[in-house]
Amino acid sequence: MKLKIDEAIGSLDYRDLVDLHEDIREGGNSIRSIVEQKIVEKEKEQGKFCAICQSDIDPHSTTNYTILLGPEGLRRKASFCAIDCLKYFITSMENRRDRISEKMHKNNNNVCAGEIDE
Ligand SMILES: [Zn+2]
Repeated sequence: MKLKIDEAIGSLDYRDLVDLHEDIREGGNSIRSIVEQKIVEKEKEQGKFCAICQSDIDPHSTTNYTILLGPEGLRRKASFCAIDCLKYFITSMENRRDRISEKMHKNNNNVCAGEIDE
């Protein structure tokens, strides 16, 4: 992530760098506005295609579903073209949660067994 920001800043010409520096020194209102606008654009982009089958999402259809995932500040949006794709997504999330839970349980048992042996 940091490298990408470094690359983006590195691609600016001298005049843009000076303007950016001045904006940051004055509170960064311009750069904040640009970043917020890009976030809105990216969020709209995420809602254009089904997260499972990649088909186009018709924004006027009543069979579309959109969910917000993750903690506040790191929220991501996922859209689905139909309930089948939403169900597939939820089932995949449940399976992944179960695998992680199994793995953690297995690792905890190993730790406990190790402690008993000592
Ligand atoms: Zn779909």
